[in-house]
Amino acid sequence: MTDHLTIGILALQGDFAEHRQALERAGAAVREVRLPADLEGLHGLVIPGGESTTISRLMLAYDLMDPVRALARSGRPVWGTCAGAIMLAARVPDLDRPTLGLLDVGIRRNAFGRQVESFEVDLPVPALGEPPFHAVFIRAPLIQDVGPDVDVLARLDGGAVVAVRQEHLLATAFHPELTDDLRFHRYFVGMAEARARAEAGPGPK
Ligand code: GLN
Repeated sequence: MTDHLTIGILALQGDFAEHRQALERAGAAVREVRLPADLEGLHGLVIPGGESTTISRLMLAYDLMDPVRALARSGRPVWGTCAGAIMLAARVPDLDRPTLGLLDVGIRRNAFGRQVESFEVDLPVPALGEPPFHAVFIRAPLIQDVGPDVDVLARLDGGAVVAVRQEHLLATAFHPELTDDLRFHRYFVGMAEARARAEAGPGPK
């Protein structure tokens, strides 16, 4: 029943093409979003990895900040990966540009230092079941504080939080779109499907 769902992918900068492919393989129709009008009728939105400074600047330039906030506040699921997670966060002390401020978390950019710019790890994610998810981190942020309504979905060995969900908002510090494992994309499409079903109300018996 996912074929009627259209998921938007913010396509201003970053690795939106990989997300597009993964979402399509997970069964959703995908629309690239560059202008506020592109948000019309979407069942969910993905904000990709890239450079949060650039994404913030372009979202302001194209007047996308308030329309994306409105989409999220209407209950439509929004998922940010890496720079996209930074854009969702309420608190990013080392970013001197606005974020959407939707997700009640504090995030530290480039948290793993210059020596360890990128790494891959098999990450247990109980919400996805077995096996662990092969997570690709690229100049990744980490989630350093979470508000009371935020569920932690995954932690690195040392305890650092790298995936969270707050109701219809999802954030991952790593890049599920860079592996063949579609479980995170299916999980997000499932969130959008549940929301669309709730909006449609009870169907005919
Ligand atoms: N380091 C980037 C930032 O701070 C995020 C990197 C990524 O999205 N892979 O925006």
